[in-house]
Parts: sequence; C-alpha cells; structure tokens
Amino acid sequence: MGISTNLDKIKNTLAEHVQLVAVSKTKPIELINEAYQAGQRVFGENKIQEMCDKQEALPKDIEWHMIGHIQRNKVKYMAPFVNLIHGVDSLRLLEEINKRALQNERIIPCLLQVHIAEETTKFGFSIDEINQFFDNNNMGNFPNIKIKGLMGMGTNGVDESQTRKEFASLKKCFDNNSRLYKLETLSMGMSGDYKIAIEEGSTMIRVGSAIFGHRNYPQSNL
Ligand SMILES: *Cc1c(COP(=O)(O)O)cnc(C)c1O
Repeated sequence: MGISTNLDKIKNTLAEHVQLVAVSKTKPIELINEAYQAGQRVFGENKIQEMCDKQEALPKDIEWHMIGHIQRNKVKYMAPFVNLIHGVDSLRLLEEINKRALQNERIIPCLLQVHIAEETTKFGFSIDEINQFFDNNNMGNFPNIKIKGLMGMGTNGVDESQTRKEFASLKKCFDNNSRLYKLETLSMGMSGDYKIAIEEGSTMIRVGSAIFGHRNYPQSNL
C-alpha cells in the first residue's frame, strides 16, 4: 500500500482537533515528497542534522518538528526554522533554545517532555517537576520560547490498560497546568498506540511506520 493511502486512512479517523505529525526519520527525500504531494505538511525527525538536510532539500512550506532527544550543541542548527521542539527535558536545554531563538529573532514553540513510561531509559521531566516548573512560573525566564504543551511516550509493548494509564496521567498533568497557562498541545501517541492516546486526550500524534513502513535499523537506535 502506498504512502498516500496510509495517510488517508489515518487522517480519516482523526477529529479536527488532532494534528498528525508524519515521522519521517531515516526515510529518504523521495518518500517525504510523496507524502507532501498527498497534502501532508507536518513532518517529525529525531536527528537534528538529518532534519536540517531534509529541510534544505524540500519545499519551504513544510513544518518541521524535532521529536527526538536533543544535544544542546546542535540546537543552533535548527533554531532558524524548527516549528516545534517536542522533547525538551531540562532547564539547561531551555536556556540554550532561548539563546538561539533570540539570536534568530524568533520565538520557538516547545513542548516539555514528561516521563510517563515505566522504562528508566526514556527522557523527560517527572510529573512533579512539571508541576513545579509551572508553579514557579519558570516560563518567564525564557522570553524567546513559547511553551505550547506537553509530550510523552508510553512504555513499549505493555498491555493496553498500562498504556492507557500512562496517557491518562499525562493528560491529568496537562489539564492541571492548563488552568493557569493555556497549554494547547498534548503530543502523545505513535503508530502502535495513537488510537488509545486520542481516546485519552491527545491533540497531536506522531506516526511513522504506519505511514512510511518499517524502519531498517536496530531497535536500540529508535
Ligand atoms: C520514531 C518516533 C515516533 C514514531 O514511531 P512509529 O512507531 O514509527 O509511529 C514517534 N515519536 C517519537 C519520539 C519517535 O522517536
């Protein structure tokens, strides 16, 4: 089945308030172009260098989202164009993004990544740290960043009730902090769990393999 068929199948199930980020990491320009021709404009990458190369080669009305773990020394390369950074997981990273945004005379939209999975390997703030961040009004320290919401990843390969529990905890944190700060984006859900994520309140899903097919690299690089 082709990319445009896959995209249609997913988009037809989405309510209007749910945005689809097509995760194109490891996929070549030609396949991204195919999705572009089918009308997709929002793409997600998890490596800064790869995203910069693709941004240069592809149409300029594409919205590029950085969804992976970020090394601070590479923020400067994406600062001129990145549309949303999903994986912000430390204050030091926020400082660096703010500095590079200022240099580019931009406000860069970001999501704070929340650690909701059982695995210890996944990055992110704890829910307590997120609550503290907003309670302390830390946003005021980063005038060139717009915190638009939260992002999280569920534990891999667990049963549906566990996934649902993790997404629900993120949604609760989102709602609690939205009262004061008008957060609008809750990024949760991937190919294997986006339907559950939407039922639990996701407004943005990050879908790769269900659109582009499986990626060819070892699990450890995911
Ligand atoms: C790779 C990746 C995705 C997409 O995963 P699929 O299972 O292929 O849909 C979503 N979010 C993040 C953070 C990723 O790294």
